[in-house]
Amino acid sequence: MAKKKRNPPWTRDEIILALDLYRQVQGAWPRESDSRVAALSDTLNSFWHARGHEGATLRNTNGVKMKLMNLRAHDPAYPDKAGLKAGNHIEREVWADFEDDPRHLQETADAIRRAIVSRKAIHIEVESDEIHDPNEAEAPEGRLLTVMHHRRERSQKIVKAKKQDALNKMGRLTCEACSFDFAERYGARGDGFIECHHIKPLADLAGAGNTQLADLALLCANCHRMIHAKRPWLSLDELRVLLVSANEK
Ligand SMILES: [Zn+2]
Ligand SMILES: [Zn+2]
Repeated sequence: MAKKKRNPPWTRDEIILALDLYRQVQGAWPRESDSRVAALSDTLNSFWHARGHEGATLRNTNGVKMKLMNLRAHDPAYPDKAGLKAGNHIEREVWADFEDDPRHLQETADAIRRAIVSRKAIHIEVESDEIHDPNEAEAPEGRLLTVMHHRRERSQKIVKAKKQDALNKMGRLTCEACSFDFAERYGARGDGFIECHHIKPLADLAGAGNTQLADLALLCANCHRMIHAKRPWLSLDELRVLLVSANEK
């Protein structure tokens, strides 16, 4: 007999979407007629169907409602937690990441929805599953926007144009955070080497047009990795501050 396939655990992206709905219904148990529950169920199912998952219970409306109740377990507006059960640990993290910034939550949820509708983003995400980097943290904004960020900063054409632009202006390629120069350190082998980091907020990615030169910063490999090493990712300015204060110690 075929083993019953269990539904995949809720991902950060999904919990962000659920928290967005939780905020909209203000923690209440949604009515049977509330179309937003069905809409979220459809969105999540289209995400999983694109990844080859099926099943009648996969993110059905009841599952969505249960997830809203899981989220209530993290809500200080409901101090009586009797009978409330939290789901996985990602809920607590997502709650903390977005607790003080409802606007950012809404923008991020919108961006994730747009990314799901555009099948391309899911395709990139599935692909990048196989090359997951253990030294890198998924952004607070979730996996789909994370992979879109990387895809943009690794696009050959724009990276080449960005480097050429810097060479035209300064005659060399240096890290915008720490001034490291690969050509200076590694000689001919480092010539022309530097990484690009996309500086636009992740929530802007899904609807944004093509990457502009101004959307990219040139960074050495170390600085770039430090930005992505932990949650939350650092802004360029935060990284610069960190470099200065680490130096002072
Ligand atoms: Zn650097
Ligand atoms: Zn980056």
